[in-house]
Amino acid sequence: MSVDSKNPETIALHAGYRADPTTGAVAVPIYQTTSYQFDSTEHAANLFALKELGNIYTRIMNPTVDVLEQRIAALEGGVAALALGSGQAASAFSIQNIAQSGDNIISSTDLYGGTWNLFANTFKAMGIEVRFVDPAEPKAFAEATDGKTRAYYAETLPNPKLKVFPIAEVAEIGHKLGVPLIMDNTACPVLCRPLDHGASIVIYSTTKYIGGHGTSIGGLVVDGGNFDWEAHSERFPMLNQPDPSYHGAVWTEAVKPMGPIAYIIKMRVTLLRDLGAAMSPFNAFMFLQGLETVPLRIREHSKNAATVANFLSKRDDVTTVIYPTLHADKESKARTAKYLSGGSGGLVGFELKGGSEAGRAFIDSLGMHYHVANIGDARSLAIHPATTTHSQLTPEEQVASGVTDGYVRLSVGIEHIDDILTDLSQALDKAS
Ligand code: PLP
Repeated sequence: MSVDSKNPETIALHAGYRADPTTGAVAVPIYQTTSYQFDSTEHAANLFALKELGNIYTRIMNPTVDVLEQRIAALEGGVAALALGSGQAASAFSIQNIAQSGDNIISSTDLYGGTWNLFANTFKAMGIEVRFVDPAEPKAFAEATDGKTRAYYAETLPNPKLKVFPIAEVAEIGHKLGVPLIMDNTACPVLCRPLDHGASIVIYSTTKYIGGHGTSIGGLVVDGGNFDWEAHSERFPMLNQPDPSYHGAVWTEAVKPMGPIAYIIKMRVTLLRDLGAAMSPFNAFMFLQGLETVPLRIREHSKNAATVANFLSKRDDVTTVIYPTLHADKESKARTAKYLSGGSGGLVGFELKGGSEAGRAFIDSLGMHYHVANIGDARSLAIHPATTTHSQLTPEEQVASGVTDGYVRLSVGIEHIDDILTDLSQALDKAS
């Protein structure tokens, strides 16, 4: 029996698994195994030739990980997904799957610091050029596109600016020019489904809200199955020309009978095979536990964060509060309303009158909030990005990504709101 639902609360509990066929176990078992017995030599050969899909070796696939992949693909409205060892691996693979030396991608400037580094330095060293454009101007993506452009890349709700990305506007440009839009939806699962707005690929750091309890590092790529790679065969030779690493397979043709999954299958059987950034079955189990309650938690995070943002905006020692519903410009407000539903996420940014010194004093005075380089835990978290997450960026890069000296980022948790406000109040009082 399977459960057919369009509701995230139900999908998060039921998609991709019912009960273990041999034991009846209702919780998804942890298949802690490296390899799988083949039925026969013919069966083994068919699996390796992709004539049949099935388990070969846990670096490439695993039944526990498979449930997580199916569940998140269903939550996003995608056709298939690939879980990876971290969010970093997910963003790197999403691009390396279709771009190689000599190619370029166009990215929003508003990125997580680690992604910025990957794009500006590691990809550069690999010969993949990343052209950064201001997301406030969707047409900048069109202007930067040329025959070697392989993807557009952005975060749905990037911090520190917390301005929602114009997904449909840029996706539409991409559809005209034959360029897929890859969205990092880490900060707002359930609140936004980028595929519904025309994006083609969604990536996650599952480390954050999906895990939700700060226990495991992981990432995931969802294939929307909505991009016609074959129609743009010149732009995507890696999917349309024989792949020498897989006895000359042409991915768009080889997997056609299995559905529009050329992109994600290629990622699994070549990049994951070769680079090995696999998610462990145990971590997949942890993410499945988190996923079950993410629709509930993200609403509670959003409710508490909105209250915190209002509280901060009334304080004299706070000069600026950054929250998706509080932006002064109409465009940003309109994008929040258009793309986020059920809440505006758990992240809040603010600037103290006292600048960097006050920011640091505030963080050092927090009692309940944890001072950590993370977001999305059930617990409330705080950090000073200029001296931590964004410290490897140059001062110019910091400004471009929205990090100023006195900026403090809160990842508002799901504790009782009174306790969150009490801790913030006493720390603010000490810092000012
Ligand atoms: N994307 C976003 C928006 C992030 O915040 C992070 C991590 O902070 C990542 C990607 C990278 O994820 P991970 O730490 O799981 O490698």
